[in-house]
Amino acid sequence: MLPDQAAGKILDYRIPEHLCGSVAVGSRVRVPVRTRSLPGTVIELVGETPFGKVKPIESLMDGKPMIRASLLDLARWMADYYCCPLETALRSLLPVAVRDGKVSAKVRKSVRLACGIPEADLEALSKRAPRQALALRALPDPSTSVLLSRAAAAAGVSEGVYHTLAKHGLVALEDCEVARDPYAERFLPATAPVLNAEQEAAMAVVMEEMAVPKHPILLFGVTGSGKTEIYLRAIRHAVDTGRTALVLVPEIALTPQTVERFKSRFAEMQDRIAVLHSHLSQGERHDEWHKIHRGDARIVIGARSSIFAPVENPGVIIVDEEHEGSYKQDEAPRYNARDMAVLRGRREGAAVLLGSATPSLESWHNCQTGKYRLVRLAQRVDDKSMPLVRIVDLRRPARQDPGGGILSKPLCEAIESRMAKGEQSILFLNRRGFSTSLVCEACGHVCQCPDCSVSLTYHRAAARIVCHICGHNRRAPAHCPGCNDPRIRHSGTGTQKVEDILSKIFPKARIARMDADSMTRKDAYRETLGAFKEGRIDLLLGTQMIAKGLHFPNVTLVGIINADLGLHLPDFRAGERTFQLLTQVAGRAGRGEMEGEVFVQTFTPFSPSIQFARHHDFEGFMEQEMEFRSRFLYPPFGRMALLTLRGTVKDRVEFSTETLARKLKAAASAGVLVGEAVPAPLEKAKTYYRFQISLRGNSSLALSRLARSVLDSLTMPDDVFVAVDIDPIHLL
Ligand code: ADP
Ligand code: ZN
Repeated sequence: MLPDQAAGKILDYRIPEHLCGSVAVGSRVRVPVRTRSLPGTVIELVGETPFGKVKPIESLMDGKPMIRASLLDLARWMADYYCCPLETALRSLLPVAVRDGKVSAKVRKSVRLACGIPEADLEALSKRAPRQALALRALPDPSTSVLLSRAAAAAGVSEGVYHTLAKHGLVALEDCEVARDPYAERFLPATAPVLNAEQEAAMAVVMEEMAVPKHPILLFGVTGSGKTEIYLRAIRHAVDTGRTALVLVPEIALTPQTVERFKSRFAEMQDRIAVLHSHLSQGERHDEWHKIHRGDARIVIGARSSIFAPVENPGVIIVDEEHEGSYKQDEAPRYNARDMAVLRGRREGAAVLLGSATPSLESWHNCQTGKYRLVRLAQRVDDKSMPLVRIVDLRRPARQDPGGGILSKPLCEAIESRMAKGEQSILFLNRRGFSTSLVCEACGHVCQCPDCSVSLTYHRAAARIVCHICGHNRRAPAHCPGCNDPRIRHSGTGTQKVEDILSKIFPKARIARMDADSMTRKDAYRETLGAFKEGRIDLLLGTQMIAKGLHFPNVTLVGIINADLGLHLPDFRAGERTFQLLTQVAGRAGRGEMEGEVFVQTFTPFSPSIQFARHHDFEGFMEQEMEFRSRFLYPPFGRMALLTLRGTVKDRVEFSTETLARKLKAAASAGVLVGEAVPAPLEKAKTYYRFQISLRGNSSLALSRLARSVLDSLTMPDDVFVAVDIDPIHLL
């Protein structure tokens, strides 16, 4: 038995008599630990215990083991690979709402006639007690029960009337479980289009893999090339052959539009589709999960953690937008759901289908080495050409530009002309990056580490620039090393400021802003998108939120306000992410009948990610990016681990990191590179000081085991916390 919080201690308990036969490996139980009662997972059944008399299990949470054997195995694998305790890995298998058994099924009263009542009796009753007669008339025959609240509403009486009738034995009140179905609305069935030749060829490969899974498939197709159509067919095939399907979608793309598309294609079995994502209430999540657990769901659609949905016998596991960083969990266990999908598929005999318009270097590399099978959809279904991409060089001194150096003249003119024609525009500001690198506004020079080729991080307090991979550091230059201009700095601009400028330049425009700050209300997102779709908004300004999965036929202009944000983050994936983002954002333009145009504003117009994205040249980008990665032994060629220590007392964190780095170096085998202890690029976050050590080598598992063995042998100060990230995606 492994309690959820027992610092890795496996404890022995006795199975009390009344639970004999029902407790199994994978059961969730409550057990006494000291004076408390804690939830935990049964991980092994043993005949004997060396501890003599042990306490009994208190209670069992569900008749059926809540963690299936195959998922328990997956958790063990995760704990080993991602260097975390088994109980942490186990915790991620169950949503909070089902984990401790505190949220329970929603039980409501239903009512049914106790026996048939002759019309004459009802007549008589209506004279004496008219409300009671109304209440009885609202009920169907005795074999059918209805929700008490519904019956009362239909009869126009209070629920108390039914309680009175129950006392007289005329009706029966019963408890019934109702599902909190977040998508209770019904969708009309949608018919499948006839596949085009490319899709047919893709589908043939999918069918082969579904018959005998050998390799995961990477479905590489531009936005609008019909990938989702392939997913739908694969799911249909799984369902038709008596199997199930699991679909992962990035949280942000799991919009009502997406859910609707799946539900209407499988309209005849809407009840058998479960949707899991973070906007559900605890109760809804509880019900959706139990629906899967009971075996009532044949199709599961969800975000990252749905990879652990307890569906049985999956025929296909689909990961849409496989390159998305959000598939990586940013707390322990720091798993990547895409990689877990590949693993789970292999273990459970399911075909694995990874789709993307801009595959990750990892997956692309796996295709090149024959680990994955590459399937392409090169054409857009509607045969539309890709939008025209224009680069606006912000280095040119701002002439009389109206946008204060933030909105260039060409972009403003383009917006103006769209408004005149009644067409819509989207402006995109990638604000996620924070300004820690130095970019010269005059020539576009970026300060980089000579050894690691990532941007150096500016640490203001010490006025130094630091490489957080190897530790290289030097004084921050006062003048640009490229052109000697003193304008070397990094300016940050938020969406709010851009909105202010826009409303000054275009006083008549109807502008809406979409970012995490303006979208705090649950329905704000849906409402704003609705208004935009109906043409009640001319200009939509937003962050990442608007880059994904949206389809607006009337949008003919997309502007990227500052392509450099994100590009010069001190992260070797910065170029890859920028390329993906530009490609994705550009895909929002011209999805209808009209041609689309994209404006990309940048201080570094020569940067390869921007140039390749401009020409829609994915392979060109891949080729040069692969070369860079292999030269510096970055993934996918080498593997990486990142250890981040944090604490509120800076010296203590720094000292602990240095000690750890020293021990790691001493313990590391040949071929493993241990970096210096350095301040994290995000030096201070939420009052914590953060320091890092990076590890590089050719096996993630070896890095993980090195980290574990050294950490196990080391006592950290109580207020210093260590996070181990294997195959990190975000290096900040
Ligand atoms: P992707 O997932 O690659 O962005 P979709 O599968 O969403 O592409 O397809 C884009 C649009 O084209 C959708 O509206 C879809 O219904 C439609 N579509 C897909 N395949 C076909 C087809 N073979 N014939 C006609 N329309 C199609
Ligand atoms: Zn370096």
